[in-house]
Amino acid sequence: MNSASSKTNLLGLDHEGLVAFCAALGEKKFRATQLYRWIHQRGVADFEAMSDLAKSLRAKLAECAYIQALPVLTERASRDGTIKWLFDVGGGNAVEAVFIPEKDRATLCISSQAGCAIGCRFCSTGHQGFSRNLTAAEIVAQLWYAEHELRRRRRHKTSERQISNVVMMGMGEPLQNFGQLVPALRTMLDDNGYGLSRRRVTVSTSGIVPMMDRLAQQVPVALAVSLHAPQDPLRDSLVPLNKKYPLAELMAACRRYLQYAPRDFITFEYCMLAGVNDQPEHAQALLDLLNTDGLGVGWCKLNLIPFNPFPDSGLVCSAPHDVQAFAKVLLDAGVVVTVRKTRGDDIDAACGQLAGEVKDRTRAVVRMQRKRDAVPL
Ligand code: SAH
Ligand code: SF4
Repeated sequence: MNSASSKTNLLGLDHEGLVAFCAALGEKKFRATQLYRWIHQRGVADFEAMSDLAKSLRAKLAECAYIQALPVLTERASRDGTIKWLFDVGGGNAVEAVFIPEKDRATLCISSQAGCAIGCRFCSTGHQGFSRNLTAAEIVAQLWYAEHELRRRRRHKTSERQISNVVMMGMGEPLQNFGQLVPALRTMLDDNGYGLSRRRVTVSTSGIVPMMDRLAQQVPVALAVSLHAPQDPLRDSLVPLNKKYPLAELMAACRRYLQYAPRDFITFEYCMLAGVNDQPEHAQALLDLLNTDGLGVGWCKLNLIPFNPFPDSGLVCSAPHDVQAFAKVLLDAGVVVTVRKTRGDDIDAACGQLAGEVKDRTRAVVRMQRKRDAVPL
């Protein structure tokens, strides 16, 4: 048995969890706060280096806990500054995190599951199927690693925060991993953790209605909803979850969320697919959907995402003039529309792509291994 397996990776505990963990060791709350700061604010993994903790506490911690990031399988840096890490989560599975620097912010896009069970037609993660939920430690590890690794690289400003925003838009459906998502989000928001405001942390969901309500009650961060179609039959075919939570229910849940959201809008994501959902009639139907109860369209933002193609998807990215025409219908009616810039093009920094490549490679390695095993030497 791996000695680490009976120990707790402290990256997975939120502040409250760490207080309880330390209490079980007979330690006071302020010790837990000190420890939490060492971990998240200073990126320290070695208890021995935590100089203001008593030697006896450091020894106790070393016996029952550890602080560990995920092994990095690959790192790719784009000409535009985007960095994509692929992390090994064991069992031939890999997840990715993407760092996207911009003028006024630096966003980290992180994963919540290895694979995804929702199976959206245009998503390479969905095509890979579901492997497993990430633990809270594995979710936070992506941020912990990226933040402190970037600080180390930019040595001259070690305490300056590198990541200003987090979006749960990597692999997986975060609301299908709610139990692990919540402590991870709490650590992102905690003043003794990463201290990000609720408006700078976004959960993106394909629309798991009951979990949207729970998120509103427990950690109401910014919400992005992956819409992709304005009518049920089309959305059924693109996002199979729509059959369970159709558009009317989803829109009502969005309205409810708005009462708790950190800003006065919900973001809708819409992946532009040539000839499928990008025609003027789709734009008009979308407008009607957003304005269902006649309250106007001021409560939402629309993010049009150019489809990022991958092998065997059978889908094509919309032509730029179709995207523009689509956006114009909505803009003219007062909707705030943005067209997502493609970042990290040269490194395939889109949802699930690099992980897909690795998974195929891993499968190939396993196949080769089996063949070898089958051949008597
Ligand atoms: N499961 C969540 C979050 C992860 S996906 C969700 O679906 O919202 C993050 C975003 O990337 C979603 O809006 C998703 O629709 C989009 N996406 C997935 N595959 C894509 C592709 N090939 N091209 C462009 N956007 C894609
Ligand atoms: Fe899962 Fe989101 Fe991909 Fe759909 S788009 S398969 S919900 S990761």
